[in-house]
Amino acid sequence: MSVLRIVIAGGGPAGMTLAHRLHRHGLDVTVYERDCGVATRDPGYRLHINSTGTTALHAALEPALWELFLATSGMPDEGMPLYDEHLTLRPARDTKATEGVGAPVSDIPEHLVVSRSTLRRILHLGLEQVVRFGVKVVGYRSNPDSTVTVLLDDGQTVEADVLIAADGINSAVRAQRLPHARVIDLGARHIVAKIPLTDQTRAMIPAQLLTTFSLAYDSDHTGLTFGPLERSNPDSPLIKEQDDEFQAEARENFALTIFNSVNEKMMPDAELFTASPQRLRDYVMARLTSWHPALVDTVQLWDVTTVQALTLRSCVPVGAWEPSNVTMMGDAIHAMSSALGIGANTALRDAHVLGEELLAVTDGYRAVVEGVGAYEERMRDYGFAAVRLSAAVGEQVIGHRPLPE
Ligand SMILES: Cc1cc2nc3c(=O)[nH]c(=O)nc-3n(C[C@H](O)[C@H](O)[C@H](O)COP(=O)(O)OP(=O)(O)OC[C@H]3O[C@@H](n4cnc5c(N)ncnc54)[C@H](O)[C@@H]3O)c2cc1C
Repeated sequence: MSVLRIVIAGGGPAGMTLAHRLHRHGLDVTVYERDCGVATRDPGYRLHINSTGTTALHAALEPALWELFLATSGMPDEGMPLYDEHLTLRPARDTKATEGVGAPVSDIPEHLVVSRSTLRRILHLGLEQVVRFGVKVVGYRSNPDSTVTVLLDDGQTVEADVLIAADGINSAVRAQRLPHARVIDLGARHIVAKIPLTDQTRAMIPAQLLTTFSLAYDSDHTGLTFGPLERSNPDSPLIKEQDDEFQAEARENFALTIFNSVNEKMMPDAELFTASPQRLRDYVMARLTSWHPALVDTVQLWDVTTVQALTLRSCVPVGAWEPSNVTMMGDAIHAMSSALGIGANTALRDAHVLGEELLAVTDGYRAVVEGVGAYEERMRDYGFAAVRLSAAVGEQVIGHRPLPE
């Protein structure tokens, strides 16, 4: 068959991992990313990656990029302790749901942590000719000859054989492909920030918070999470081969902290999303006055330039649909509560499964729509299960609203 023209909307973890897998196998793939460049926006802070994610990345990345990924990742201790607001341990939670389903890759641990920004930089290396920055996909037209015309925000169009929406929770393609699919507000808000980890700040943080991801919360589900990222091999020669910005970033260790509250206890949205970062930090300090002083002190260490407020949202799983040559992956179809830290891992699993199916199509084993349908069937199963499980855990631990049936 002639070479498949594959267009991916969105250069996040899902879209870029799939692009690597397909590009490595010589397929014709183009990614349209709305951001103007790889570093024009901080894509967030820290991600927990389990064996589901590492399996997908290992299959997609060239060996040198995989090694660069490992060198810049952190390898935290096992366990995810829960505390109350007095820093007293709560009963341990079952962490099974945070574990992946991937095949073990060499001798790396089940749980890694990565800087989102560094992962983004790595995922763009080697795909400079594949990614078009500063272009938004706004919709598509399905054509009678089984091709799809992709509509771009600059008025241009591009012809493709397959369109894959990897454009995140507000996906324009999903809105057209599955207009009945809903995204709901879970009724909780995060205020997130980074703490730089230096000898000075480490000395001021309780030792038990420095080794793994921890969450403290009170009886109202007001919570403070702490997730350190200490790069495993900052002196790697592979890092030294990268540009100055990459090298500087890959030497930085930091902790992600998240203040969490249900809406009823949080300042109104109109204030939350317009307040200055300093004001948000002061607000968090004020909410935690009765908490253990060591926890409150960590908020003093927030890098104010990194503070921002977020809304917790989730997709609501929908029933099966007829496959076509327009499909969706990652947050575009199964954005979920952040309670388990498995959204990106599930997105990477999509890249792995869809990659396999598209390679089978180009090898002549399947027709395009059959391959997409096989992917969608598997994805609905594990993806929507992850959405429901994350919502159930978030309801218990974060106190957010349940998902509608
Ligand atoms: C506070 C918080 C913590 C989290 N922690 C974890 C964790 O530890 N582990 C984990 O597995 N998951 C975690 N998640 C979930 C994770 O962030 C997402 O599941 C993951 O980013 C989804 O990847 P994606 O590539 O599907 O979408 P995104 O990361 O949203 O990427 C979408 C990309 O598409 C681009 N784009 C958007 N619209 C368009 C358009 N119209 N045209 C072109 N480009 C477009 C965007 O700029 C972006 O680059 C967390 C989420 C939150 C909110």
